[in-house]
Amino acid sequence: MPEPVPPGALVVLTGASGFIAKHIARRLLEDGHAVRATLRSPSREAEVRAAVLPGLPPEAEGRLTFATADLTADAGWAQAMEGAQALLHTASPFPLNQPRDPEVLIRPAVEGTRRALTAAADAGVRRVVLTSSVAAIVNPGSREMRDESTWLDLEAPGVTPYYASKALAERAAWDLARDRGLRLTAINPSVVLGPLLDRQSGTSVALVQRLLRARDPLVPRLNFAAVDVRDVAAMHVRALALPATEGERVIASAGLLPMPEMARILKRAYPDRRIPTREAPDWLIRALALALPDMRTAASFLGGRDLVSNAKARRLFGMDFIPPEEALLASARSLIEQGLA
Ligand code: NAP
Repeated sequence: MPEPVPPGALVVLTGASGFIAKHIARRLLEDGHAVRATLRSPSREAEVRAAVLPGLPPEAEGRLTFATADLTADAGWAQAMEGAQALLHTASPFPLNQPRDPEVLIRPAVEGTRRALTAAADAGVRRVVLTSSVAAIVNPGSREMRDESTWLDLEAPGVTPYYASKALAERAAWDLARDRGLRLTAINPSVVLGPLLDRQSGTSVALVQRLLRARDPLVPRLNFAAVDVRDVAAMHVRALALPATEGERVIASAGLLPMPEMARILKRAYPDRRIPTREAPDWLIRALALALPDMRTAASFLGGRDLVSNAKARRLFGMDFIPPEEALLASARSLIEQGLA
């Protein structure tokens, strides 16, 4: 019989140096859990403590411990899982620019997911929450409303190495869950914005940084959906207490936030800043993509709309999502406060 993970349980959180994971760590500690945070390099421990602990009661510090494990190597995973009651697996490569060889992303994502979940199963840790993505659900350029019942078609035009890495890693997780009896929930966020806990902006907030720094003269017509990192973190942690979410993939998304709309919202909030608001014609982005690697990713999403339903998250988790505009403005405030824009 599925049982909620009790408050105070030891939870392993992989990729703790990440933008989303720092918010999850904070939320776990607020809820009274003990957190064993994995890093590929122990040199990031102080950074994670400094981001996560401020404002929490002093005793929380003793509930945050660390382990070293890399997605691409076996060392450390067994020790990381010892005595734990749940695994939150967020670590996965998420670069802004796509490598020419898709395996550069696919191998760490898939093998890392297998390593983390196998180590969990071997250690008797049954409850697992995986950070997947809407990339595992929606084809680039899609214009139809999607929900958790669809999967990315790996053969669809414009599928980037990152998209493939997320779909294949989530598939690997479901296969292992079936074979090893894991109680898995996948959380599938759209573009994650919201406040930063430190100066590490991550790939998604870098979109906002790019607009605030007026890096490009025109804005590409990319129709992303967005969600606030505080809601994404809340879903990961709430899943532990909600056995009804076991065996489910659940989209975390507050709604569409097209890039030209992002630019207009930022310009209204910061009228004195030079923020580009004119739309780039699609042909221009496609032409630039022939020469510039970071435009290649943008070009594959032109013409699409990340239409995804959040009905399941509202039903199963009782989510009342922070509006995408608020998530955007929280990112902008953080970037400016941290001197990053
Ligand atoms: P992030 O800040 O780049 O975090 C990625 C994390 O994965 C970092 O802790 C990174 O460690 C770790 N990692 C990468 N390669 C690794 C390796 N070989 N071994 C061990 N750890 C490794 O990105 P994020 O936005 O927080 O993303 C976290 C998760 O959410 C990812 O699974 C991502 O696919 C998913 N997601 C993100 C978004 C979004 O818009 N942000 C949307 C949907 C899903 P280092 O710090 O050492 O590099």
